[in-house]
Amino acid sequence: LVEDDTMIGQAVLALLRREGYLVDWVQDGAQADTALHGHQYDLVLLDLGLPKLDGLQVLRQLRARKDATPVLVATARDAVEQRIAGLDAGADDYVLKPFDISELQARVRAVLRRAQGGQRGGGQARHLRGGELLSCVVVSAPTSVEVKAANWPVLIAAICADVSAPICVVVST
Ligand code: CA
Repeated sequence: LVEDDTMIGQAVLALLRREGYLVDWVQDGAQADTALHGHQYDLVLLDLGLPKLDGLQVLRQLRARKDATPVLVATARDAVEQRIAGLDAGADDYVLKPFDISELQARVRAVLRRAQGGQRGGGQARHLRGGELLSCVVVSAPTSVEVKAANWPVLIAAICADVSAPICVVVST
């Protein structure tokens, strides 16, 4: 858990521990980077607005060293661009702040499930959100493919789990 807001951090930590997860909590990007160098986590819940090193930098550095640790980015409800930037930087999914507890729990479970599915080497596109997927090519590398679709409003993300690192296909205007 990477979250600089003490109240939110304590609440999410308590929630996740109550669910039975073993959780480390760090409060800035530099600590997150150090923790990610030192441990192999099953999931990172990553706030983007962080002191010292922002969440996107942490994520980019993680992916730059070919670390496929699943990452769930936490972004503000109205920050569509942040979510796109997070997905483009290699996030597996996002959660909206302020957190809806049930949604947070469900997304944590979903990302962990996809990661485990990926390790087994099976699976198909499982999540489509935000609209209709016009077309999508799933490849094993690179991990992110951007498709331009004229006049289609927002973001369609397909997280696929048929390779070890989840693939994100983003269709944007
Ligand atoms: Ca923050």
